[in-house]
Amino acid sequence: MNYKIGIDYGGTKIEGILINDKGEEILRKRSGYEKNYESGVNTIKNLVEEFDKHTNSKNSVGIGIPGSSSKENGLIKNANSIWLNGKPFKKDLEMSLDREIKIMNDANCFALSEAIDGSGANYNTVWGVIIGSGFGGSFVHNKKVVEGVNQVAGDWGHQPLPYPRKEEWDLNLKCPVDNCGRPLCAEQFISGIGFTNIFNRKYKTNFTTKEIVDLELNGDERAKKEFDLYEDRFARLIAVMIGIVDPDVIILGGGMSNIERLYSNIPKLLPKYTFSDKVRNKILQNTHGDSSGVRGAAWLWDSDKF
Ligand SMILES: [Zn+2]
Repeated sequence: MNYKIGIDYGGTKIEGILINDKGEEILRKRSGYEKNYESGVNTIKNLVEEFDKHTNSKNSVGIGIPGSSSKENGLIKNANSIWLNGKPFKKDLEMSLDREIKIMNDANCFALSEAIDGSGANYNTVWGVIIGSGFGGSFVHNKKVVEGVNQVAGDWGHQPLPYPRKEEWDLNLKCPVDNCGRPLCAEQFISGIGFTNIFNRKYKTNFTTKEIVDLELNGDERAKKEFDLYEDRFARLIAVMIGIVDPDVIILGGGMSNIERLYSNIPKLLPKYTFSDKVRNKILQNTHGDSSGVRGAAWLWDSDKF
């Protein structure tokens, strides 16, 4: 039996998982670390050593990070764990772990995990969407991540909202993210934080996302209206993406993916915006939840085998 190690590099914690060829979880560990580069490298080294010891073998290692490892110069870019940016993370870890490793954006790891043995297992093309504090996407074809020449394939979180309405222009939202700052940035409408900010501004309230979700479940008219708008915006974004990628399945992850009404309402809205006689693309909830990132990282070395 072969084993593989996946690591998910979060902003405050690093999670490691050991799985076998069947995807069965053997061990899982989470470790806090100090917010600096060396502490992260050492934490990963300790996790990998522990897993290797457990199996008495030198296992493959894949790492999901919030950013990407540049194919051009091997340096990390666009990581929100900012101490990673500009660092030769892959090279340093390969030295430290004494083996080749693979590094991939964490949203891509999510989609890969779902494509291999999650909600997308029976489909060729999977569009993964993560909607939490941010909003991002990723694209997997035949169980392989499509990274793109700029390594931003599927990274649709900062595209403009399509068919904008006057109300949406009038919100005058400016994206604070480096490299964006553009008006109508989708993340400002679709992320959990974006949705909640719009709600609170409009109704002069101070609710959390969870509280607005609960309001909607209890029949609150404001919450119902804002979710109707949210679903319509999301449907517009998905319809434009379908016009380019047309994936078999769209799989949602992150905190907002737990909102059940999205899965019944968005498909009903898609025909209005999609250039196709029928819209066959399925919108599904993820299978592995928060574990998808770390599982996808573990699968990085094996996606050629499917
Ligand atoms: Zn943006």
